[in-house]
Amino acid sequence: MKILSIASEMYPLVKTGGLGDVAGALPVALTQLGEDVRVMVPGYRQVFDSMEPPGSWIPLGDPLGAGEARLGLGRLPGEDLPVWVVDCPDLYDRKGGAYLDRKGKDWADNHLRFAMLCRAAAMVCDAGAQLGWRPDIVHAHDWQAGLLPAYLALRGGRRPASVFTIHNIGFGGLFPATVLPDVGLPEESFSQHGVEFYQQLSFLKAGIHYSDHVTTVSPTYAEEVLTEEGGMGFSGVLAARQDDLSGILNGIDTHVWNPAGDPLIAHPFESAKMTGKRANKAALQEETGLEVRRDIPLLGIISRFTVQKGLDLVLQALPEILAQGAQLVVLGSGDPDQERAFAVAAKAHPGQLQLRVGYDEAFAHRIQAGCDMLLVPSRFEPCGLTQLYAMRYGTLPIVRRTGGLADTVVDVKDGKENTGFVFEKATAEDLNGAVTRAVALFRHPRKWSIVQRRAMVQNFSWQSSAQRYRDLFQTLV
Ligand code: ADP
Repeated sequence: MKILSIASEMYPLVKTGGLGDVAGALPVALTQLGEDVRVMVPGYRQVFDSMEPPGSWIPLGDPLGAGEARLGLGRLPGEDLPVWVVDCPDLYDRKGGAYLDRKGKDWADNHLRFAMLCRAAAMVCDAGAQLGWRPDIVHAHDWQAGLLPAYLALRGGRRPASVFTIHNIGFGGLFPATVLPDVGLPEESFSQHGVEFYQQLSFLKAGIHYSDHVTTVSPTYAEEVLTEEGGMGFSGVLAARQDDLSGILNGIDTHVWNPAGDPLIAHPFESAKMTGKRANKAALQEETGLEVRRDIPLLGIISRFTVQKGLDLVLQALPEILAQGAQLVVLGSGDPDQERAFAVAAKAHPGQLQLRVGYDEAFAHRIQAGCDMLLVPSRFEPCGLTQLYAMRYGTLPIVRRTGGLADTVVDVKDGKENTGFVFEKATAEDLNGAVTRAVALFRHPRKWSIVQRRAMVQNFSWQSSAQRYRDLFQTLV
């Protein structure tokens, strides 16, 4: 099968979160299964900084009246995967992030920036004969790619089958109705049975409504999005697509996240030989200025700071967590109030709490390698990757029972295959209960290491998940 994957971010070219990891790793895993996969990303400045310049260009003209565009075919660094980069300097060549400007505000022309990505993908589908490569399947990720299924379906005629994957329903890709003509959608698409969502245009709804199949990134999340609370306004839209909705758990890139061969950590280790893990813990304590002691439980957080991630619960529970003698290393950024609150707490408890505000891929690896436990107290979590990386690095996750966290972590008291600590309610009290249980187990090194080793040998590789995507694609082609 020829598969075209479209995403607004893709590791290692550009990443802001789990979407980037998945959009980078799944195509590689599908290629390894023998499929003919190409990916497409916007030509942000950081994308061109991260790859060899494409060898040839296809002019696309100015399809949206927003700037001249062209398409270059390159390769994903370190992989034999063809990448189409949409070069449209007016929309992408600027200082700032993939979605936000340097002040942290959404780019005002995001509707055009991501419509352009979808338009370019639709043009590839149309020009298959000239290009010598026509996709059988387009796989569109999250709202930024939501217009592609709409463009294909609304145009009619022969087209590839489309799968739309929701990585986070909290982002609806909402824009005023007035931009409809700017993104090249016909007026009649602006209806309940189209792209309209409470009088606005929703790119996410476009993807849900017009694709042939919708997936979410874990089976539990596929159920949660059908509920009023979990659907965040889209449960009705999804209910209409219920027969074409399924959940496929994300995998992890086991080469990038491999404690035995991770170039970003100082002391490689594996489940049969854990001395490196202890050395990484000492190194992390030293790096962050915490007391270097093996017997102190060291907790980590690697997260975007948003309401979704439940870090306010950690702030509330902090006095109790610190009273247990634990140390905590926090890496993240986002909500300014949470950044400030963590900074205040870190200043008050420098011996126990260390904060690094920002995005730091290498530090994230060192936290995973050095900590004893990772906190993921999310209010909702479509899949979650950090808990999977944590398990692989022998860092036991403490998670709330929601979405993909519920699907991947088995509580120590829930049977033999346990791998971490799970709490029920999004309250400081429940979180505290789980941390207390974790610290108690940590005080029994032999029992701790049994769970730790079990967590490390769980198979969260992409192989079986990629196989599921392939099976799904085959039913649609
Ligand atoms: P989400 O996609 O909702 O942010 P996931 O758990 O699915 O959450 O994926 C988060 C990804 O982003 C992981 O690879 C994690 O290591 C990474 N990450 C999050 N915040 C940071 C940060 N501040 N610095 C480095 N990596 C981060």
